[in-house]
Amino acid sequence: MQLSIELTGRTVLVAGTDAAARQAVLRYRAAGAVVRRLTGPDAPAAAGPLPFLVAAVDDGQPGWPARLDRFRAAGVPVAAEPAAGPAGHVTLVGGGPGAGELLTVAAVAALRDADVVFYDRLAPHQDLPSLTTAELVDVGKTPGHHKVSQAGIEELMVNAAQAGANVVRLKGGDPYVFGRGGEEVTACVRAVLPVRVISGVTSAVSVPAAAGIPVTHREVSRLFTVVSGHAPLTEDEHRHLTGLGGTIVVLMGIGTLHQLAAGLRRAGMRADMPVAVIERGYQPGQRTTIADLGGITTAAAGCGNPAVLVIGEVVRVAEANRGCDAAAAELDRLAASLVGA
Ligand code: SAH
Repeated sequence: MQLSIELTGRTVLVAGTDAAARQAVLRYRAAGAVVRRLTGPDAPAAAGPLPFLVAAVDDGQPGWPARLDRFRAAGVPVAAEPAAGPAGHVTLVGGGPGAGELLTVAAVAALRDADVVFYDRLAPHQDLPSLTTAELVDVGKTPGHHKVSQAGIEELMVNAAQAGANVVRLKGGDPYVFGRGGEEVTACVRAVLPVRVISGVTSAVSVPAAAGIPVTHREVSRLFTVVSGHAPLTEDEHRHLTGLGGTIVVLMGIGTLHQLAAGLRRAGMRADMPVAVIERGYQPGQRTTIADLGGITTAAAGCGNPAVLVIGEVVRVAEANRGCDAAAAELDRLAASLVGA
């Protein structure tokens, strides 16, 4: 159960060692509370009136239950608080396609426990201030323009963890799908730092879904290939992709769309193969442009990053379902008018 209480100006006693309580202290201060500290179950109580609330951080010291019971007996509520994340660790977190609600439970916990978060442009960073008290560092990249170089990001992460911080590296989508997650793990391993990876919801699957497109569909497509359009594909790659006969999902593909469409046509893909371009999935201004392979370059001329391209018959499934949606809405309208009659 979650309970919201107004804490502005209230005295909260945060119980737990400095290391374990460091983020709870920041959280309560951010909520406006006047924080007092109790670092161990045998530490003397500060003089003065009883606190409004005791925030008991789970730091593993055995004497806490008896001490906390004394507060309860005096009528002070005791709230359990998680201990801060481990110091000197790095966690690569997949943030999903940009919607706060597509963060995983593990991602939310890692953010809550972080001392510093290095985040990317496509990660759901607008929500960060409500999810963590960590220092927030924007290392975001826009196509062709890196705010901080990849080596610079790795150095920042490693330095912060070596200085004792619990570091979260928040990335868009999944860290291992065109996210350079592998390189960042290697940088941590080289620096002998503990590192873990929390998978995220990749845009390769979720952004098509936001437009109603399933990347596989029974009897339509039983495979999907995710490919980077960062650089033009080779003729071999065009041929292989065409030969597979499944769904093709392209990330970072806006800049090379015309080369891809022409290459797939040269490799023998039908000109009437449907193509969808989904821009800004889960963001305000999400937009889907659908055309056939022969006409997509013209149809998508005004499309921009970030966008996911989907090439394949599955695009028609979305169109058919939209037709069903419209039919269902029409039936609802009819039913409502009958009830009203
Ligand atoms: N690791 C990420 C992909 C990083 S590459 C993941 O798993 O999703 C960046 C590309 O992802 C963008 O150029 C775009 O093609 C795609 N992308 C990520 N988020 C997107 C969104 N919200 N809408 C559309 N495309 C998105």
